[in-house]
Amino acid sequence: MRSQDHDRIFLSPPHLGRHELNYVHKAIEDNWVAPVGPNLVGFEADICAAAGVPFCVALNSGTAALHLGLLLLGVGPGDEVLCPSFTFVATANAIRYCGATPVFVDSEAATWNICPVRLREAIEDRLRRGHKPRALLLVHLYGMPAQLAEIGALAEEFDIPILEDAAEALGSTWQQQPLGSFGRVGVFSFNGNKILTTSGGGALVTHDPTLAARARYLATQAKDAAPYYQHSEVGYNYRLSNILAGIGRGQMELLADRVKRRREIFRWYQGHLAALPGLAVAPAAEPPGALSNRWLTTVLLAPPDPADADAPPATPETLRLALETRNVESRPLWKPMHLQPLFAEAPMYGGAVCADLFARGLCLPSGTALTDSDLRRVAEALAEALR
Ligand SMILES: *Cc1c(COP(=O)(O)O)cnc(C)c1O
Repeated sequence: MRSQDHDRIFLSPPHLGRHELNYVHKAIEDNWVAPVGPNLVGFEADICAAAGVPFCVALNSGTAALHLGLLLLGVGPGDEVLCPSFTFVATANAIRYCGATPVFVDSEAATWNICPVRLREAIEDRLRRGHKPRALLLVHLYGMPAQLAEIGALAEEFDIPILEDAAEALGSTWQQQPLGSFGRVGVFSFNGNKILTTSGGGALVTHDPTLAARARYLATQAKDAAPYYQHSEVGYNYRLSNILAGIGRGQMELLADRVKRRREIFRWYQGHLAALPGLAVAPAAEPPGALSNRWLTTVLLAPPDPADADAPPATPETLRLALETRNVESRPLWKPMHLQPLFAEAPMYGGAVCADLFARGLCLPSGTALTDSDLRRVAEALAEALR
């Protein structure tokens, strides 16, 4: 059978359950179509329970949640915010929305997340230059927990608040505690490609009732307590609609299931790709105490062998194109921020680790609705491309 005869296998498509429509129906029946309503309240309660935090504000995107999170930490024009270079652009854009400058830091090889050694270097160097970083935007990439013990200790030593970008890490834990609950503020995304989705959406979580109240206020145009429309501060229109929150309620029922399936898919690839030359599922091991939701299974190609100059080196792009001929979607890893034209001027500490990951890595289809026969098709395509 030719490849085009197959249905397309997407990277990480939405995977709905049986109850989303019930919540949406109810919202329409009851005419709760305005942003705030019972689904929104219920969705926020579901997220609080899953993330182990007392306060949640559901928003219309993870990016909006990052923007508000930075504002809550007092980030403003002229400030510097520490941030891994290896992330999705939304993380760094949120810093720019505040008029602040991202200070990029390289990854560590073990988790691909911000390197604690480089992070210390960066903080000490910024302090020497007279700029105390206003915040650390900590990302858990592809669901893998960052080194929370060392990073938490650094943040405490230098008194720098953490904003956790757990957009890709809903359901991941560190020492049994959910990611998103470690920082002063945490952020989740419910974008269409994430582990759970509301088609588009996000959430901000915190242990601090004052910060939660301020997030709600800023997200709804910063209205003063007056019977008319009075405003003393710039506000935003960032609330999630009660309709989309209905999808979110149905999705939240499935979180444990979806994490289990993503992890199964990761292990399936690990087993079935183990014999392929020059390719490995990575990052392979979770650090002690860390549990990754394995949002996306990612692979790394071995570095080109200088002793074997004849072998045409496979690259992420040759693999991607080979998968494409079988109607299988795959994607390069995030291109590091310090290599983006947009952030060419931003300070960067290290950079070789994440640049190398970008040069050698690829994201494989990881959606929870994938069947074993879909997975076999991906594995066969990879085997053929590497032969
Ligand atoms: C998806 C994502 C975001 C942004 O979330 P949206 O809901 O798409 O705005 C932020 N950071 C990371 C690391 C992401 O993967």
